[in-house]
Amino acid sequence: MAADAEPLSPPVPEAKFKRVMLKISGEALMGPQGFGLHPPTVERIAREVKSVHDLGVEICMVIGGGNIFRGLQGSAQGMERTTADYMGMLATVMNALAMQSSLEAMGVFTRVISAIPMDQVCEPYIRRRAVRHLEKKRVCIFAAGTGNPYFTTDTAATLRANEMACQAIFKGTKVDGVYDKDPVKYPDAKRFERVSYDEVLAQHLGVMDASAIALARDNNVPIIVFSLDEPDGFRGILAGQGTYTTVHG
Ligand code: UDP
Repeated sequence: MAADAEPLSPPVPEAKFKRVMLKISGEALMGPQGFGLHPPTVERIAREVKSVHDLGVEICMVIGGGNIFRGLQGSAQGMERTTADYMGMLATVMNALAMQSSLEAMGVFTRVISAIPMDQVCEPYIRRRAVRHLEKKRVCIFAAGTGNPYFTTDTAATLRANEMACQAIFKGTKVDGVYDKDPVKYPDAKRFERVSYDEVLAQHLGVMDASAIALARDNNVPIIVFSLDEPDGFRGILAGQGTYTTVHG
């Protein structure tokens, strides 16, 4: 934690962590469609977030933009890379607003906080202000990635988790942890209970991109990989149950 970070409020007895980062990909919001936002899926994930919020856990979120636009795809089609990346970052703002709308309809107060200022739409990122929102139990949805091209929202999630002094990064995926090979293709794939940052990097285990893993390693923030499709999965882990993999130091 940075020396000038504000002190955290007292710990929550039921939950294993007091402040966490939840990272989900944009694709997690597209449900059975091949593109864009699927409102019932957004609502289902918002409900999971609310159930953890109800435990008193302070929640940061980063949502990717891959359901709308990815910079690499744009540049593969001839678009200038940095422009394409800015379009990807803007896509994450749309996803963040959709999640905000769904959470607030359930009575959860939120802030969308963008790395690229767009005052009419959401707040600009100011670290101390974001910390204050968390202390007031507002879910902070960090949008527009890091604000820089050539990065990903995995790196943005790790960066903000470090800045917000999150105790863990929850990476919601389609499977319930990290496997030695793709469990969808190989039925004999083995799931790790725990795996180190270095093993993830050396074996290219594909948890998050390498810069995100290295940033988590530098600050020793555990990454908990779990299935977003498991009902109550996020809350279960906070309560000490469920199947997942911890990436650690
Ligand atoms: N992006 C970027 N800088 C960042 C974060 C994201 O340029 O700090 C762009 C990049 O083009 C990326 C897109 O935003 O492809 C969407 O983010 P990402 O691919 O991480 O989304 P996800 O795969 O998690 O849905």
